[in-house]
Amino acid sequence: MDRRTFITSALALPSALALPSALALPRFASDIPKAAHYDVIVCGGGPAGFAAACSAAAAGMHSAIFESSSCLGGTWTRGLLSWVFDFKKDGICAEIVSRLDRRNARHGGNNRDFVYEPEAMKLILEEIALESKVDVHYFTRCCGARTKDGKMAAIITDSKSGIQMWTAKIFIDCTGDGDVCAQAGASFDFGTNGDRVVQPCSFNAIVSVKDVEKLADRISAYKKDSLKGHVDSVRLNLKDLLSYGIDPSYHMPTLFHLGGNILLMMFNQQYNVHCDNAAELTAATIQARREVFKIVDVLSKTDSPWNGMKIISTCDHIGIREGRRVKGLYTVSKDDVVNGARHPDAVTRATFCVDIHAPTKEENKEKTIKNIHTKPYDIPLRALICRDIDNLMMAGRCISGDRIAHASYRVTGNAADMGYKAGLAAADFIARGVTPHSLKNS
Ligand SMILES: Cc1cc2nc3c(=O)[nH]c(=O)nc-3n(C[C@H](O)[C@H](O)[C@H](O)COP(=O)(O)OP(=O)(O)OC[C@H]3O[C@@H](n4cnc5c(N)ncnc54)[C@H](O)[C@@H]3O)c2cc1C
Repeated sequence: MDRRTFITSALALPSALALPSALALPRFASDIPKAAHYDVIVCGGGPAGFAAACSAAAAGMHSAIFESSSCLGGTWTRGLLSWVFDFKKDGICAEIVSRLDRRNARHGGNNRDFVYEPEAMKLILEEIALESKVDVHYFTRCCGARTKDGKMAAIITDSKSGIQMWTAKIFIDCTGDGDVCAQAGASFDFGTNGDRVVQPCSFNAIVSVKDVEKLADRISAYKKDSLKGHVDSVRLNLKDLLSYGIDPSYHMPTLFHLGGNILLMMFNQQYNVHCDNAAELTAATIQARREVFKIVDVLSKTDSPWNGMKIISTCDHIGIREGRRVKGLYTVSKDDVVNGARHPDAVTRATFCVDIHAPTKEENKEKTIKNIHTKPYDIPLRALICRDIDNLMMAGRCISGDRIAHASYRVTGNAADMGYKAGLAAADFIARGVTPHSLKNS
């Protein structure tokens, strides 16, 4: 049989034969098989989701993480972030620091803000999740939600096992982008009053160089306990790039040291990319990878300390700074951040500044980051509870806040601590036989 005849006859097969039954799309929503029931289901296994599932499990809940990729850590690992902010917190944050140190996987910085090795982070997060007895479901995307009488009833997932439905007492949306809340029909903001003007994304890469010492003044936090000197380092990088005829999409091209002659390179920004648009994400990824390779191709051939530089790996997912912000029982605001708000139901105290990257390359050239004077402020549990749907919570960058506050609390120390407390709060609601909306009038 020639290739053309084979393809034609394969297409002519009855659909039941052409597709294995588990992969056949259900014809009706009621056909979706129910896979399992949990106490707590966490959607997304980034810094917030990983922490939420582990703390709920540690509190005795049967808990699960549904993660679309093949690792925990989200932007920490898939995004190759490599630098952590606002991490000096007890609980899961302290545990991660101690395990990274045992593997000698931190380089530069202090216990609040530091450089870490992304591959070691993957391993450590998996170890903690398995020790906590969390059911981890990789390669499983949350693609739909079921609600009943104003309550979250089930999530629908899509994976190699087919389309499946999972029920739980409480669900926590930690997808960063607020996918599950949106699928459930909850209200959210995107940009300011829905204008969809968002911070740019960045595509990070890990590179090797011949001699890291020769680039010492260009590496942020290199052999230092802080980011002091960061601006001088990125200015030197920009000067080098411009002198070799490259005008990078990110005008604060940053390097971090990951040990040996290995560096993390954040030289790219992609503008006007939205987390809910696969075509934009695809185009941005292709364009960004080309830029990163072009930069390294040029630098590696120069007679300079950059000579011989090579790309080792590029991020698995472009880093998304800003997506949906789901409406909660409380909205963290710019006023909270400026005045140092205090709340009786605080889940974490954020100490990071407001860090907004301008939405266009031209604006970033003028002023890369806008700073607003801030004081340490509390994030209340109510900001982690979906306003429109009961039994649905959020943690991480998709919680309820305005755009200015989001640009502060989005960093990973806050995301992880929020997740940790969200998991504990979910366990407490379940143990007391109440729902998250019991906080509605508090
Ligand atoms: C370029 C860039 C630079 C940054 N710089 C810093 C910095 O220097 N220091 C710092 O601390 N923070 C920094 N941040 C912020 C920080 O990385 C994020 O705000 C933080 O990771 C948010 O954590 P999260 O768990 O809410 O979301 P994420 O880290 O985005 O994780 C979400 C997880 O959910 C999964 N997921 C998404 N949708 C689905 C779905 N439908 N089904 C199943 N799984 C899903 C994803 O695969 C991912 O694993 C930066 C962010 C970016 C993008």
